[in-house]
Amino acid sequence: MNRQQQEIALRVAREVHNGKTKASAGRRLLSTEAKIPDGSAKIVIEVYQKMCEGSLFKRHLSRVDMTFFLQSFGGDGNAEELSRALDALRLHIRWRESDRVSQHGNREILAEQEARLADLLAEGVTSIAEVNREFQAKVALALVDNGDARRRRLAAAPRLPRKVAKLVYVYERSADVVAEVLAQSMGECNRCKRPAPFNRKSDGTPYLEVHHKILLSAGGDDSVENAEALCANCHRHRHFGVD
Ligand SMILES: [Zn+2]
Ligand SMILES: [Zn+2]
Repeated sequence: MNRQQQEIALRVAREVHNGKTKASAGRRLLSTEAKIPDGSAKIVIEVYQKMCEGSLFKRHLSRVDMTFFLQSFGGDGNAEELSRALDALRLHIRWRESDRVSQHGNREILAEQEARLADLLAEGVTSIAEVNREFQAKVALALVDNGDARRRRLAAAPRLPRKVAKLVYVYERSADVVAEVLAQSMGECNRCKRPAPFNRKSDGTPYLEVHHKILLSAGGDDSVENAEALCANCHRHRHFGVD
C-alpha cells in the first residue's frame, strides 16, 4: 500500500474496530475509495483488530504496512495500547517461527517498537522523592492561603482520598548494608548517641533507621561507610531539620 492507502486503511480499520462500520462495508470502502484489493482489505482490517486485542493474527503484512500500523498505537502516551499491539506481533512471530518461516524482518520491527514502548513508559515514571516534593509544595501553598479559603475547601472536599497508580523509580538498596550498620550501632543513635527509644514489635530489636549520609538520589553510595543508624527523631532531623 502507498501512504495514502495506508491512511485510509487505518481510518477504516479503526471504524470497524469501534463498531462504527461493519467489516464488510469497510472492505467495500477500501476497494472503492483506496483501490485496495478485497483480499488485502480483509487482511488489514483483521490484523488491526487483533493488534487492538493483543491476540494472534495469522496474516502477512509487508514491512512498511506493519510498521505503519504499529506506529499508530501508543499515541497520547498510551503505552498499554502499544504493549497489546506488540503482544500480537510477538504471537505472530512465534507462530510463524514454529513453522520455520524466518521472521527476521518482523523481529527487527519488534525491536524498534519495543524501544519506542520503553521510551513511552519512561516518560510516565517519576521518583518517590519527586512525589513527596510535589506534595510538600502543595502544603506550603495551602499554608500561606488564608484560613477561610482553606476551611471552605476542606468542607467541600471528599473524605476518602483519591487513589492513583504511579510508576516510580526506586533504588534497590542492599539489605546487607542495613544489617551491618544496625549491627555496628549496638542499638545507639549515631546523632544523639542515646539508645534506641523503643524496641521493634516484630523481633524485640532496638528500633533504629538506616540513613544514607549522601542521599542515594544525590548519587551517594549504598555502602556501610555512607550509612548511619539513627533514631526516628534524628532521622527526620537529618532530612528536614536545620543543622
Ligand atoms: Zn537520635
Ligand atoms: Zn534518611
